[in-house]
Amino acid sequence: MSDTLLPPVRDEDGGPFWEYAARGELRVQACAGCGEPRFPPRPCCPHCQSFASEWRRMSGRGRIWSYVVPYPPLLQAYAARAPYNVIVVELAEAPRIRLVGNLVTGPDAPLDSVPPNRIRIGAKVQVVFGKDGMPRWVAERS
Ligand SMILES: [Zn+2]
Repeated sequence: MSDTLLPPVRDEDGGPFWEYAARGELRVQACAGCGEPRFPPRPCCPHCQSFASEWRRMSGRGRIWSYVVPYPPLLQAYAARAPYNVIVVELAEAPRIRLVGNLVTGPDAPLDSVPPNRIRIGAKVQVVFGKDGMPRWVAERS
């Protein structure tokens, strides 16, 4: 059994997302025809069927739209960290885009660094990037 967390799948459509993340930038794919952002990345715009796309930089601000607190049975590496949180973040500039991640106390903090009872739907969060290039979320500092 491995103690390694599952790495993200880096396919051709999603590759740029991870390349920007490695530079500390949160970008989402948007249609270069009608301008509509979309996630997950895919070749064709579901609104206007254009194949032209761009990667639009986001501020990294958002709100917790939903969350879950996983408990075992889980894969071994995750069970060792449970209970932790998985949040769904609604992006400030693109409210229809919702990214799944973890609410943590800092970019390289463990998955269980924020107690589940501190999480609130609607709370403002800000993206941060760990040394591994993974986007994570912290409470927004005002
Ligand atoms: Zn379009």
